[in-house]
Amino acid sequence: MSFDDKSNGYSRKEFLKRVSLGMGATLAFPGLSAAGNFFGDHHQYYYQQWEKRDPLPADEKLGIALVGLGSYAMGQLAPALQETKFCKLTGLVTGTPSKEKKYGEKYNIPDSNIYNYETYDQIADNDDIDIIYVVLPNSMHAEYTIRAAEAGKHVISEKPMATSVADAQAMVDACNKAGVKLSIGYRLHFEPHHEEVMHIGQNEPYGPVTDINNGFAFPLTDPNRWRIDKELAGGGPLMDVGIYAVQAALYTMGERPLSVIAETPKKTKPDFFDEVEETITWTFEFPGGVKATGESSYAQSYNYHHANTTDGFCHVEPSYGYGGIEAKTHNGVMDVPNVGQQKLQMDAFADCIINDKESRVPGEMGLRDTKILMAIYESAETGKKIEFDW
Ligand code: NAD
Repeated sequence: MSFDDKSNGYSRKEFLKRVSLGMGATLAFPGLSAAGNFFGDHHQYYYQQWEKRDPLPADEKLGIALVGLGSYAMGQLAPALQETKFCKLTGLVTGTPSKEKKYGEKYNIPDSNIYNYETYDQIADNDDIDIIYVVLPNSMHAEYTIRAAEAGKHVISEKPMATSVADAQAMVDACNKAGVKLSIGYRLHFEPHHEEVMHIGQNEPYGPVTDINNGFAFPLTDPNRWRIDKELAGGGPLMDVGIYAVQAALYTMGERPLSVIAETPKKTKPDFFDEVEETITWTFEFPGGVKATGESSYAQSYNYHHANTTDGFCHVEPSYGYGGIEAKTHNGVMDVPNVGQQKLQMDAFADCIINDKESRVPGEMGLRDTKILMAIYESAETGKKIEFDW
């Protein structure tokens, strides 16, 4: 697998191996720049590569249909699709007739490209739609991804990919069987502060990582939310926002953890959080004994990622938002911009389809993470350390 385990384009070991094989840096890193930047001279951030590319003519852009027109789809993704270079918004899928009209008019989507959950499968016959982006509550990602694959469309599933390992595996299998690509809405892989974190952790300019701690929490107070419904959300804050901290630990290390041990502290509002955890903490152990502790909560507020290395540290806070990310190392402020993460993430996937490349954030990464999230819950429930069987 090439999306983790230190081979996602940032690996010092891979770089040195290729150079010693005489393949040269340009081959190893197609985005090579003589200009030099925070990455040194061996890599460009994804946004820098993207900025150099010409947009496709409108009629050649891949068409994306958004499924589930809630706050993320219509607050972030639809606006971002007005700025993409390789894809555009061409379809809508909603169970709410008033949204068909409202968003159809707003985004100039013809009635023939607007579907509901019953007519969804007819997208198979619509050449305007190449990619289906599933932005529904978590437990619905599997069904709508599998139906999209069966309709012959490429798929992006929002995070968390699924609420069970079996569902995540079925999604990967369905896309493989249909010969379509699958990726997960992991936008931070295209965000320069986080690309820099990957570089620091994996290429070790400040020495190897010695320990990590991170967390993401926000107070959830609205009782009418699918987010606290176990059936729809699959779990509580871990599934929703803790997943960002889990991801950050893995891409800082560039490898998979060996084990995890987790705990759910006593709830302060047991009646409100009657189906899902209110707060959860976990500790991964990575090869070499590096520990990464993480936390997530619907009753607190924090948003940070910290990694110590033998010669320094990096600290990102706030870390996981759509913008406003700030980071520093022992050398000072990390001087990279905030960028439009969603447009980069969607264009990167369109580019993978057009040029038949592997996504940085493929379905297999979502499957890996689903195994990890489920192991965290298993450990919290049993009180036992869970060893991964990769
Ligand atoms: P939301 O509640 O705002 O939207 C959910 C949409 O699903 C609504 O349009 C709702 O009508 C529809 N829906 C269909 N069937 C439903 C059902 N049975 N119950 C409830 N809603 C139903 O949620 P959201 O914040 O847009 O989240 C949607 C997905 O996107 C989630 O998986 C979430 O984790 C993910 N998300 C990702 C990011 C990110 O940064 N990548 C950010 C926010 C949300």
